Order: sequence, then structure tokens, then C-alpha cells
Amino acid sequence: MELKDRRPETIAVWAGEERPVAAGAAQTPIVHSATFSYPDVDSWLAAALGEGPGHIYSRNTNPTVAVFEEKVRLLEGAQAATSFATGMAAISNTLFALLNTGDRVVSITDSYGGTSKIFLEILPRMGVEVELVRTDDLDALDAAIGEGCRLVYLETPTNPTLKVVDLARAAAAARAVGAITVVDNTFATPINQQPLALGADLVVHSATKFLGGHDDAMGGVLAGRADLIRQVFHYREITGASLDAFSAYLLLRGLKTLDLRVRRQSETALAVASWLSRHPRVETVCYPGLAQHPNHDVAARQMRGFGGVLSFAVKGDFDAAKRVLGRLKLAHRAASLGSVNTLAGPPAATSHVECTPEQRARLGIPEALIRYSCGVEAAEDLIQDLDQALAGA
Ligand SMILES: *Cc1c(COP(=O)(O)O)cnc(C)c1O
Repeated sequence: MELKDRRPETIAVWAGEERPVAAGAAQTPIVHSATFSYPDVDSWLAAALGEGPGHIYSRNTNPTVAVFEEKVRLLEGAQAATSFATGMAAISNTLFALLNTGDRVVSITDSYGGTSKIFLEILPRMGVEVELVRTDDLDALDAAIGEGCRLVYLETPTNPTLKVVDLARAAAAARAVGAITVVDNTFATPINQQPLALGADLVVHSATKFLGGHDDAMGGVLAGRADLIRQVFHYREITGASLDAFSAYLLLRGLKTLDLRVRRQSETALAVASWLSRHPRVETVCYPGLAQHPNHDVAARQMRGFGGVLSFAVKGDFDAAKRVLGRLKLAHRAASLGSVNTLAGPPAATSHVECTPEQRARLGIPEALIRYSCGVEAAEDLIQDLDQALAGA
């Protein structure tokens, strides 16, 4: 059986590591070398032309980085993968490599903050037309794609309100007009959702989050159709937004436990969300695993688990949310998500800090919303911690 046909937990451990990178080393070494040396010019030339094995220069490729890319490639069921210094480097290089002046892009209003800024501030300046559709209006998304576009950019579940987009439906609409579909799969991870199997052409991740999983390294990765990956890789060789070997080592080490972590975090998030939804001091809970989520049926169809992140609004104003956050003992009050430690924070101070309260309201983000990214702690301990925080606030 080929490795690509095995289960994700097996792929995460072995992909890129079937043969040791360094003779006899059971684990992938951190290859801290900017350049790579050859015994003669012929073998050097062969490597440079991609006709022989080997690396040339770490801005382009590096052995440690290649192991990380291979794991993500097989986990996402992709033809090819390439990596970046951060998630935003992955997203920006992808969009800038694939779009030209005069092209039209369709996306959703709930994209990650940095991604939204590319759509609202940078692409229009380059003469790219951007149409952002309300994330919860799947008919409007179909219609916007149907008018024709070069690229459809999606994210599901979204940050911080966990809205869900029907990927198979949107990808089919994109294919019908010859558009490329790109999906940010950061929140779901390939353990819970495989956009390529649902018809997307490319899948992008902030590896800083669940893929690395330990909140100690930044990175980004893009996987999918080989022709498109080649185009983006070529662009990244020039922009130099490459992942470095040390971060790649931390990320590939984290990846080995991706399945263990994400399954546990998804189970915990479901338990915490269900508990919060019955709490008298909680106004609303956003989590696609709850039956009352408006797109629970779509989520249940396209996801294996519902992910480790949820958000909830406490009754009251921003001060009420601040009081609850201030009392949490088993959560870092911090940005980011997907770590082994629980992380919690208000979107009003993190992802949507630059919005006015009115803009947040229009996006359906209450001022008293708390985003809560479950770590791998025991669910009962997290629930006890939330209980004392809500009771005392
Ligand atoms: C964090 C995040 C990004 C950006 O990734 P960085 O590694 O911080 O650059 C993009 N998309 C989503 C959904 C994210 O959560």
C-alpha cells in the first residue's frame, strides 16, 4: 500500500520521512544551510534544472522544509505543496501570483482580517475587481460566481463567528465558469475537512495554528494542483517569503500529533459549546457542531469533526466579556488559535480591532463575543474554569 492511501495519523508521522534526510538519523534534522554544495558542475546543473536530486539555495527549497511540505501534501490529498514564512505570506503570494489586472475575484465578507485587507486595500489598487458576498448567503455566492471570475477565495469555518460555506457547491459553481477555487482550511485542518476532495483547486493554511499546534512557530503552506503550485512557487522564489528550516522542524514535529490533537480539540469544543449553550449568562454560542448552527447540515456533510474553535457572547456589553476573560485561569488571553494551550480573546481586541463597533455589528460580531480555542487540556477542567469565570463576572 502506498503511504498516500493510508490513514492521516500514519501519513502525518511518515510522509517525507520514509528514508532519513541524514544518514541513520531517525528524525529529520534541521538543515541550517543557506546553500548546497556539489562534487561537480554537472550534478549541480542537474539539480538546478530539476533533473537531478538535491537543493540549490534555501530561499527556493530546503531538505527540512521539504519534509514539512510533503506531510501537508499527502494530508490534503494534493498533487503538490509549497510553504511560506507565515500564513499571510501563503495567502498573499497565492493571490498575487495567480491574479492579473482586469481579473475578478469573488470571496466572502468573513475572511481572516489580513486576507480582507488584501481584498479591500491591495487588489483594487492593482486593478483587480473584488466582490465580497455575505458569508451566510450561499445563493448570493453562487450568483456572484456565476457572473464569471478568475478566482473564488473561501474560508470555512470562518473567524470568529464560525460561519460555514458549502465547499462542494461553491467549487462546482467556480468550475462551471472556469475559475480557480482556493480554500483557507486553517480552522478545520485536513483531519476534519479536505477541500480538494470537495472540488477546490488549492488549499491554504496558516501553519502557525493547528498544523504546528504548539504556538511556537509561524508558517504557511499551499497545496493542490501541480500547475498552480508551480506558478506560486516560482513567484515565492522571487519574493523570498520562504519558510526557514527551524520553523519547518517545529511545524513537522507538531504535525506528527495533528490527528491526536485535533480529534481531542474537536471533541472538547463540542462539549464546551454544548455546555455554554445551556448557561444562563451566555447569550449565543457559535459552533458548527451544534444542531442550532444555521449551516449545521452543511458542516456535518463536509466535515469529520467540527474543529477546536468556538465563540460565545456573554450577556451584557464588552465589559462583561472583559470580566469573564479576566477570570479565566486555564486560557492565555492571547491572539491566535490551534495551540495545545487554550487561547481566548475578544474579536473586538484581536481579529477585528480595526473595525468600529458598527462594522463589527454588521459582520454579526457582538461586542461581548469571546473566541475560545480549546487546547488539549481535559474538557471537564475547561468547563469548570469557564463556570467559575462566568459565575464570578
Ligand atoms: C492566522 C490566520 C491566518 C494568517 O496566518 P499567519 O500565520 O498569522 O500569517 C490566515 N487565515 C486564518 C484563518 C488564520 O486563522
